[in-house]
Amino acid sequence: MKKKPVYSVIVPVYNEEEVIAVSYRKLKDTMDYIKEDYELIFINDGSKDKTMNKLLTAAQKDKHVKIIDFSRNFGHQIAISAGMDYCIGDAVIVIDADLQDPPEVIEEMIKKWKQGYHVVYGKRKERKGESFFKKITAGIFYRLLNKLTDVHVPEDVGDFRLIDRKVCDEMKKISEKNRYVRGLIAWLGFNQTEVSYIREKRAAGKTKYPLKKMIKFASNAIISFSYKPLKTATFLGSLISLVGVGYLLYIMYLKFFTNKTVQGWTSSVSINLIFFGIILFILGIMGEYIGRIYDEIKNRPLYIIKDLIGFEEIKKVKKE
Ligand code: UDP
Ligand code: MG
Repeated sequence: MKKKPVYSVIVPVYNEEEVIAVSYRKLKDTMDYIKEDYELIFINDGSKDKTMNKLLTAAQKDKHVKIIDFSRNFGHQIAISAGMDYCIGDAVIVIDADLQDPPEVIEEMIKKWKQGYHVVYGKRKERKGESFFKKITAGIFYRLLNKLTDVHVPEDVGDFRLIDRKVCDEMKKISEKNRYVRGLIAWLGFNQTEVSYIREKRAAGKTKYPLKKMIKFASNAIISFSYKPLKTATFLGSLISLVGVGYLLYIMYLKFFTNKTVQGWTSSVSINLIFFGIILFILGIMGEYIGRIYDEIKNRPLYIIKDLIGFEEIKKVKKE
C-alpha cells in the first residue's frame, strides 16, 4: 500500500506563466528538504496563458505534482476550496503561486503544527513592493471587518497558512458559495497560532487582484460575516426622521411666530436628492444580501473541473 502523504501544499494559479516554474522549484526544494511525504496540488483557475503547459511539464516529471484544472476562472477563494476538497494530507498548506509568501516559512509552520496547533497562519510583518493604495485599503479593510463582525479574523493575515486535517474536513462541510476562506477558518475555531514573515515582492507578473476583484472580495468578507450593514437602514432612517421633525418644528416656528418665509426650491431639491440617495444606497445593501441568498438557493456547484491530473486513485473510485 502506498504511504499516505503527510503534507498537502495547495497553490491556486491564475495566469502565472512568468513565475510558476520558479515557484514550483522552490516549493519542491522546500518540501524535499523536510524529508517527509507530500503532494503539491496546483489549481489552474482558468489561466489563459501557458501556465497549464508548464504545470503539465512539472507533473510529468514529478509524481508529487497534481493538477486540478478548472473549466474557467472561478476565483482565488474557490480555487483554494477545491484544493481542500481533493487533498489527502494530514496537514494542509495554502500558499500563493507568486512567491510573495516565502516557502521557507512552511517549515516553521510545520514545527508549530507538530506542537499541536490546528491552524498556523502567516502574519505579514511587512509588505514589500505593494502599492501604497493596496496597503492602505488592506489596512482599513481588516480593521473595518473586525469592527463589523463577531468572529475575530486576525489582522494582516492572508490565506498563507497551515491547517490540520480536522480543520480541512470541517471546511469541506461548509457549502457557502461566496466564501471568504480565512474568515471561515477563524470561525471554525480550534487551536490557532501565528508565525510572522515579511511579505515579499511578487517574483514576476502582475497582481491578479484588480480593484474590481478586491471590492468583491471585501464585500464578500463583510456580508458573509455580518448583518450590521443591514442595520444602517434602521440607524440612518431614525436619524433622518429626527432631523426631519426638528426641521418641521423650525419651519412652524418661522411661520407662526415671525414674518419670514422659508426659501423653497433649492432646499427641497437638495433634501430630496440626499434622501433618495440614502434610500437607494440602503436598497443596494439589501440587494447584496438578496443576491447572495439567490446564489445559495440555486445551489450550483462551487466549481467545474475540466481535468484532474495526478489523482489516479480518485479517478478509479469515480469509475467504479
Ligand atoms: N489567483 C487565482 N484566481 C484568481 C486570482 C488570483 O487563482 O482569480 C491566484 C494567483 O495566481 C495567486 C494568488 O491567487 O497565486 C494570489 O493572487 P495575487 O498574487 O494576484 O494577489 P495579491 O498578492 O496581489 O493580493
Ligand atoms: Mg500576490
